[in-house]
Amino acid sequence: EPGAALPAASGPPARTQPPGSSPPDLRKRQTKDFEFGGILGEGSYSTVIYAKETSTGREFAVKMLDKHQIVREKKVKYVNVEKDVLHLVVHPFVVKLFYTFQDTHSLYFVLELAKNGDLLSHLRRYGRFSVPTARFYTAEICSAVEFMHSKGVIHRDLKPENILLDDRFHIKITDFGTAKILPRAAPGSQAAADGGEAAAPEYTHKRRASFVGTAEYCSPELLNDREASHASDVWAIGCIIYQMLVGRPPFKATNEYQTFQLIIRRVFQIPDAVDADARALIDRIMALDPAERPSIEEIKAQAFLAGTAWDSLERQKPPNIS
Ligand code: ATP
Repeated sequence: EPGAALPAASGPPARTQPPGSSPPDLRKRQTKDFEFGGILGEGSYSTVIYAKETSTGREFAVKMLDKHQIVREKKVKYVNVEKDVLHLVVHPFVVKLFYTFQDTHSLYFVLELAKNGDLLSHLRRYGRFSVPTARFYTAEICSAVEFMHSKGVIHRDLKPENILLDDRFHIKITDFGTAKILPRAAPGSQAAADGGEAAAPEYTHKRRASFVGTAEYCSPELLNDREASHASDVWAIGCIIYQMLVGRPPFKATNEYQTFQLIIRRVFQIPDAVDADARALIDRIMALDPAERPSIEEIKAQAFLAGTAWDSLERQKPPNIS
């Protein structure tokens, strides 16, 4: 939708307002409000830079997007989805969007800073996680995704790379550019009874022609040309639990095509050494039929996560990652 409006349409620049006319947090930010530091990472359409707000000393990760590139490559829709989802899913384990603004060339997303990198780099460094560590991060991921799902959001690209860690080593899920916002179901309607998953005509014809996401975490239904649903995120969580305990994703071949063959045939093995409760959970999650997969609520009740103090996760000290 190249004609779609760009997000972050800036209000009047702060300097045109009488000083002190609005509370500081509602004022539109500009680049000159921040001292920029080093590059934290680069995406296909963005550069993420460390920034400190000059007036408060608060630290952020500022995601800079090139407006011309986004329009040229028809990514306006994805940028808007990312912004909408971040406003919708405000949760301690989801990266927070504080401000958005733009100048002539760029859009700026001022995000919560996740100082400790992503789960993938920690997995690469340490091979795999201990059972308590894997259990703790499984619980945090489930807690975040359950909340997302309750808001009608399907992430669609859950993977260790998109799970960032903050200064206290708690998770911050990111990368909502490929998320899907389900149409809001009217209370009492069949769609509401089905968990908000209305068969929305606008989604059936707008389905992406090409594969989006990451091969290793892709659910079988997506490969069989079906819509992504809550269950597709659950499948990805199963892959992540496996990867945390084994050190590699369950389905991984030399190329995407071969990986997809393993997924649609459910060809994977859980090493005997893996914790028995975790094995049972992974086995249940990896159901080829999405309707047979447990919901997050059901996963939370499984033996592997028994004993999790769900309400205090945020205040707990995560087990060591190494
Ligand atoms: P793509 O555009 O290909 O989907 P991506 O989703 O990784 O890539 P970004 O969301 O722009 O792109 O992030 C780029 C990189 O910047 C990330 O891989 C991560 O290393 C870093 N990064 C992103 N957000 C934060 C954050 N809130 N705190 C710290 N680092 C971040």
